[in-house]
Amino acid sequence: MGIEIVLDKCTGCGLCIKACPFAAIKIKDKKAEIEANCTLCGSCVEVCNFDAILIERPKLSDKDLSEYKNVWIFVELREKGVKKVSLELASKAREIADTLGENVGAVILGEKAKHLCNEIAAYGVDVIYIAENNNLSEYNTSNYTGILTGLILKYKPNIVLFPATHLGRDLAPRVAATLEVGLTADCTGLSIKDGLLLQSRPAFGGNIMADIISPNARPQMATTRPNVMKIQKPDFTRKAEIVSIPVDIDSKAMRIVIKEIVKTTKSGTKSLDEADIIISGGRGIGSADNFKILEDLAKTINGVVGASRAAVDAGWRPRSDQVGQSGKTVSPKLYIACGISGKIQHQVGMKSSDTIIAINMDPDAPIFDIADCGIIGDFTEIIPVLNEELKKNLCKN
Ligand SMILES: Cc1cc2nc3c(=O)[nH]c(=O)nc-3n(C[C@H](O)[C@H](O)[C@H](O)COP(=O)(O)OP(=O)(O)OC[C@H]3O[C@@H](n4cnc5c(N)ncnc54)[C@H](O)[C@@H]3O)c2cc1C
Ligand code: SF4
Ligand code: SF4
Repeated sequence: MGIEIVLDKCTGCGLCIKACPFAAIKIKDKKAEIEANCTLCGSCVEVCNFDAILIERPKLSDKDLSEYKNVWIFVELREKGVKKVSLELASKAREIADTLGENVGAVILGEKAKHLCNEIAAYGVDVIYIAENNNLSEYNTSNYTGILTGLILKYKPNIVLFPATHLGRDLAPRVAATLEVGLTADCTGLSIKDGLLLQSRPAFGGNIMADIISPNARPQMATTRPNVMKIQKPDFTRKAEIVSIPVDIDSKAMRIVIKEIVKTTKSGTKSLDEADIIISGGRGIGSADNFKILEDLAKTINGVVGASRAAVDAGWRPRSDQVGQSGKTVSPKLYIACGISGKIQHQVGMKSSDTIIAINMDPDAPIFDIADCGIIGDFTEIIPVLNEELKKNLCKN
């Protein structure tokens, strides 16, 4: 069990040294040699062109599951801080850890991110494992997978939670596959039953809820979407233990290079999953041009425009605007649904909004079942009037 260099095959090329984020390889007598601080993360295996590195990790059946303790979260960062979903995960992890009598750990990978530790600790985190390096400033699949896998192998958490964002959806399956453990994606509920993580998520097109457990593998791993788990009130007097993880990343050895990051939301505008006000349109909007009516209202009340899948499939809005089961889950203070029937797949993405206003010509539309305020009528007549009135009143104030 462990890592081995096949000396006959090793040419001493040194590529593995550059790929090892934990600086655990050196060349001795023209052959690679592994140091004791190797975490078995596997980053070196991928780069060796001569198949000279063999790794054997403990098989599931050989694992002593009682060694695995504590609930971890992977902290996703954004331009200048911590993503809201990471705080949602921290809140949920705290609740689960309290039930189990364990600690909450958080992993931060980034460049100069230590100043964020106090904020993360405030949401219930006990220990923060932080790796800082300028090559971690942007997400990079292989670097992040290698480091996180190494940390999990070293510290043996019982549970690891990821955000079901673009980043989390790329990272979590890779880590799970490397560790040969299961992963439940897009959980809408997480709790503890008989000491195991009960991972609940919709299945079969949202028609049933499935409860999933991983009794034989550790860590138990799950992703949850933004806006699904409730954020707890922060306590800024809490302090976390900070564990700095020294990492060494040679940019020349990076197999994945980020050439350009293209943002689809205009700078300064909130993304759909972090907006306080969303005005969404469905098939009833009728055309891409008609969405201008919703955009005008959004401008007046500082909102963001969303869409049903029908509107996205019609090509009226980009995929990134879609709210629902196969789109984004949102939880704004105000959600205005215009020309949206309110099928279950749309509802699961928005029903936790604080206040829902529905505008629909059909009085029997299911959206009215969950709306706090329903207006039966044509949105082309209602929204412009509403917008003018709001403009007048907002100007007065
Ligand atoms: C696996 C799966 C995943 C899915 N994921 C999603 C998802 O993520 N998000 C999603 O939205 N859907 C999703 N769907 C599709 C979902 O089932 C519905 O088909 C879709 O939500 C319907 O969109 P809609 O309400 O805009 O259109 P419709 O159901 O056609 O409703 C249009 C509504 O507009 C009203 N209307 C028409 N004209 C006007 C007017 N002038 N003023 C006011 N009201 C008007 C009508 O009365 C009607 O109620 C998914 C389906 C499946 C099977
Ligand atoms: S990359 Fe492979 S061949 Fe090159 S030094 Fe490392 S183990 Fe040897
Ligand atoms: S820490 Fe990872 S990259 Fe470094 S030697 Fe061990 S397995 Fe290879």
